[in-house]
Amino acid sequence: MINFNVPPFAGKELEYIRQAVESGKISGDGLFTKKCSDWMSEAYGLRHVLLTTSCTHALEMAAVLSGVQPGDEVILPSYTFVSTADAFVQRGARLVFVDIRPETMNLDERLIEDAITEKTKVIVPVHYAGVGCAMDEIMEIAGRHGVKVVEDAAQGAGAYYKGRALGSIGDFGCYSFHETKNYSMGEGGALAFPDDGVKDAAEILREKGTNRSQFFRGQIDKYRWVDYGSSYLPSDMNAAYLWAQLEEADIIREDRLASFGHYQEGLRPLADKGYIEQPFIPDYAEHNAHMYYIKVKDLETRTRLISYLKEQEVQAVFHYVPLHSAPAGRKFGYFHGEDRYTTKESERILRLPMYYRLKQEDRERIIERVTAFFEA
Ligand SMILES: *Cc1c(COP(=O)(O)O)cnc(C)c1O
Repeated sequence: MINFNVPPFAGKELEYIRQAVESGKISGDGLFTKKCSDWMSEAYGLRHVLLTTSCTHALEMAAVLSGVQPGDEVILPSYTFVSTADAFVQRGARLVFVDIRPETMNLDERLIEDAITEKTKVIVPVHYAGVGCAMDEIMEIAGRHGVKVVEDAAQGAGAYYKGRALGSIGDFGCYSFHETKNYSMGEGGALAFPDDGVKDAAEILREKGTNRSQFFRGQIDKYRWVDYGSSYLPSDMNAAYLWAQLEEADIIREDRLASFGHYQEGLRPLADKGYIEQPFIPDYAEHNAHMYYIKVKDLETRTRLISYLKEQEVQAVFHYVPLHSAPAGRKFGYFHGEDRYTTKESERILRLPMYYRLKQEDRERIIERVTAFFEA
């Protein structure tokens, strides 16, 4: 079976985990956490970056730090992972789902303004498949209405919008290092933000509401409980795993882009014949090959293709069931405007295996089997 995902492994992970263990500090904010956050800061142009226990937690931090209060509204796509919504539901926010652009599956920036009310506090663009949303337009709308922008860049590490790293453009950027993402630490993530004024509050929130980070830097002589907080810092052993991959970040990226390129080229004849649609990358975007998907005619074709590929030992998957149609989505929010694309496109999308070191022979076999399905 060719698996849909294989967690990335660059080579030195175990060696670095051993170093973390031998350093005598395996809890948060040790040597490897620092290496990872410094690297991200440099590579992605992030002024402040804190490693977290997940992207879900980075989003939770962003929701608290944005000052979201019960009754506030948050604009987001319905076509996203549950965490994008959960983080704001936890603050008591009401979710306002807006339709996507079918060509990128990203929040349609042209529909945002109409959904804004007095209560709108945050807009959450989700960079689907590591292809950036139209950030200039989104930042302009947010600026005009005085609302914050929290980028869900869970899939966006190593991808760019007009030369700027995804996650570095809004008020907050949230990354995931889950095992299904391009770079991994098992479970983990990061929170980035440009505003110096947010730094103390972010550190305190991440350290159980204490000013322990300042204490460790020697800025204060004892630490205390200063505000509400939780525990969002990952163990240094997890950061050690991630570090091995960040050191090889370009190699991993190139390898995934090569797989993406093979799929694009190998499946083009099917697209030309009108059987499938392929991903579209806007000119402004430099993506990271987080995902390779195709769109087929309808739900029924997708179901048949998935089971055909399974028989052929190729694991293909789909996601997301639109949040507004889920029980919790109905409870916590509503769809603003017409659902022209969210539901329809979500039923047509099919994701093919994509991971670091997907073998050339497997790439070819997948392309051949998908082709065989449609030619039969
Ligand atoms: C993976 C993912 C998340 C959640 O990331 P975790 O690190 O698993 O919490 C959130 N949003 C999107 C769009 C994702 O793809």
